Amino acid sequence: MTSKIIWEKSAEDLINKAPFFIRGLVKKKILERAEKENLRLITPDFINQVKRAFGNEKEEILKEQKEKFDFQTKIKEEDYNFTQEQFEIIEKLSNQNIGYFEKTYEINLCAGARGCPLSLIDVQKIGDDLKEKIENSKWQDNLLERRKNKPILRHHKFKIAVSGCPNACSEPQIKDFGVIGNLKPLRTPEICIQCGNCLKACRESSIILKEDGPEFDYQKCLNCGLCIASCPSGTIIGNEPFYKILAGGKLGRHPRLAEEVASLKNQEEIKKTLEEVINFFIENLHISSRLGEIMEKKNFYITDL
Ligand code: SF4
Ligand code: SF4
Ligand code: SF4
Repeated sequence: MTSKIIWEKSAEDLINKAPFFIRGLVKKKILERAEKENLRLITPDFINQVKRAFGNEKEEILKEQKEKFDFQTKIKEEDYNFTQEQFEIIEKLSNQNIGYFEKTYEINLCAGARGCPLSLIDVQKIGDDLKEKIENSKWQDNLLERRKNKPILRHHKFKIAVSGCPNACSEPQIKDFGVIGNLKPLRTPEICIQCGNCLKACRESSIILKEDGPEFDYQKCLNCGLCIASCPSGTIIGNEPFYKILAGGKLGRHPRLAEEVASLKNQEEIKKTLEEVINFFIENLHISSRLGEIMEKKNFYITDL
């Protein structure tokens, strides 16, 4: 039974260095080989043996994968290039209102918080961190004081949205503060088997498939990671995900799309940026009671990262 197999700590560390979106596949291969050899302890040596064996079998495996992936990636073309299975999960999840809806603020989380397969980041954890941050910021007391004896309507609240990928289902572009998960595709030396999956996956036409493999037009690329997930040979991988931070979006009588104010690599920096945005907002309430309107008149700069 797979459950009785134990991983040495150093073997776990080694496997955790693999990019997160292929880690599952690599682990599966190692466990399959351990089962076959009736091995109960996974060591770094064993992982390296599997890697070597995998290298020898690669041509054959790539051929098999090409056939399998041609079958699996039957894309539902009218909807975001999702596979049918992904589409069904997202459809179910996207009808749920996920997040925190409090008297003085709202945090909308996309279905990445409930397992949307396209999410590139930990939407739930970021949502929890931002909730903690806003609750400990000056925002709550400030708004309650300003609206003393007056109702707090929806447009008075500070609105936040977190989206797991550039599809941006929780609408961060129209919130005071938004976070979008991104993953940049990178080319590796692994042989491209010319299956064409990456071309089908990319909605931005930002991949040119040459004889020796793909090239990216990073001007057009949205960092959605779909080509990475579609590549069976490891020719396209992603590095660590990063976070685009937006601020100053709003609806109402004069709608405005949020501006990109930062591109962050570290999850911790998202909380600090929220604090900076809130402080900037409060300091400039004499200009307007809407962050977007303040940002029309005054630039916001991050100072504390
Ligand atoms: S934004 Fe991306 S991760 Fe979030 S629900 Fe939409 S498709 Fe899924
Ligand atoms: S990450 Fe860029 S190149 Fe890859 S599918 Fe998305 S937009 Fe296309
Ligand atoms: S780079 Fe594109 S064409 Fe080449 S193996 Fe990966 S998905 Fe297939």
